[in-house]
Amino acid sequence: MHNIAIDGPAGAGKSTIAKMVAKKLGFIYVDTGAMYRAMALYFIRNGIAGDDEAAITKACEGIDVSIEYENGQQIVLLNGENVNDYIRTEEVSMMTSDTSKYPAVRSKLLDIQRNLAKVKDVIMDGRDIGTCVLPDAETKIYLTASSAERARRRYKEQVERGIECDIEQIEKDIIARDEQDMNREISPLKQAEDAVLLDSSDMSIEEVVDEMIRIHKNGK
Ligand code: C5P
Repeated sequence: MHNIAIDGPAGAGKSTIAKMVAKKLGFIYVDTGAMYRAMALYFIRNGIAGDDEAAITKACEGIDVSIEYENGQQIVLLNGENVNDYIRTEEVSMMTSDTSKYPAVRSKLLDIQRNLAKVKDVIMDGRDIGTCVLPDAETKIYLTASSAERARRRYKEQVERGIECDIEQIEKDIIARDEQDMNREISPLKQAEDAVLLDSSDMSIEEVVDEMIRIHKNGK
């Protein structure tokens, strides 16, 4: 199977780009952040605090996360319910970063992600794909952009979804999330040694897509 691993900080455009690359190459796009978000939604709905590791570990036993595809779009199922519409709020984003550091949460999702890559050509995005989930992926890319540019893109995306938000708050949240994701003990966000660094701050979406496909075909 051919696998492409994309990692990088929040709002770097990983999912937008990966979806387009998947379409062009005929790969399946796997959004691993959505799976962590579904788990965080469960904790919020059940009134579990983000810093209560014991309660989170216990709750993990009762959570089933799976993914399906409908017209090429990934659907995340939380105990059988399609939760796609509920996992993109800032509240869920922060809760996800707060809880994705716990071993019980990570081990729950690791096998699902690895098994998908075993049976399909996948382009998978997240924080630890090149370093932990798919260390043997044939192409690894670390996609980043300045925090101001990432906040601007996330703001635009939220406004288009009809969600009111404050760009300064978004930038603060993004920086806080990166700090947590980069400094946790298990599977922190970092560029894999054999990953190609791609800074998209001054690139259009099409340019990033073309560059990724070029890297995949030619290596580096
Ligand atoms: O990519 P997205 O913004 O949806 O990810 C939400 C959060 O999920 C991240 O801030 C991170 O804490 C967590 N995550 C992770 N490992 C992944 C993907 C996401 O820890 N592979």
